[in-house]
Amino acid sequence: MQFSDFSLDKRLLTSLEHMGIEKPTEIQVQSIPVGLSGRDLMASSKTGSGKTLAFLLPAMQRVISKKALSKRDPRVLILLPTRELATQVYSQLRLLVANTQYKAMKILGGENFNDQAKGLARDPHFVVATPGRLADHLKQNHLHLNGLELLILDEADRMLDLGFADQLRAINKAADHKRRQTLMFSATLDHGDINEIAGELLKEPEHVSIGASH
Ligand code: ADP
Ligand code: MG
Repeated sequence: MQFSDFSLDKRLLTSLEHMGIEKPTEIQVQSIPVGLSGRDLMASSKTGSGKTLAFLLPAMQRVISKKALSKRDPRVLILLPTRELATQVYSQLRLLVANTQYKAMKILGGENFNDQAKGLARDPHFVVATPGRLADHLKQNHLHLNGLELLILDEADRMLDLGFADQLRAINKAADHKRRQTLMFSATLDHGDINEIAGELLKEPEHVSIGASH
């Protein structure tokens, strides 16, 4: 299996080459086709197995393949539990968007709120955020999620551990429409509340679980 076996834009394949990434990992082999199909996904695999590209590549492809971009950005919202994790995902996303005309922005707790509001007013296509700060901007109408096409929850188990369930629900409600696809990634699926939140946020999801110990 090669990255070129998926229907991915040439620019993405070129970015992967520049990143020195040659062959998809198991979670990528199984998750990328689901992401590209438009179906919801609940996926788990251990830390370090390549989950980030498993969602960033379908996310990029979804935005790239849109013929006419309407004014309703962001198209893609990626939520992570901590600033550190969000920063890591954002830096991989930057490498992928660098080759395109699309804009990505990060919205993290602890950074200047007004500067973030100004950045959001420039309508980034991709937003990488921690849930608390993103929910604060939503309340202030600094962004609208009625054009959101793809919601990604990475490290969903840790977001629940950190008490972000209410913010996830608020974000879900603001982005609740037919067009939206949701991808949920987690290191484990044992977290008691994960099935509950998945039941609320995902529609008939595909399940991918790599290396689960049953
Ligand atoms: P996870 O989110 O599952 O913990 P990451 O997405 O952070 O894992 O990836 C871990 C590391 O593996 C990163 O440094 C990333 O660049 C690298 N990586 C991801 N996919 C591949 C691949 N297909 N081949 C080689 N390295 C990869
Ligand atoms: Mg990860």
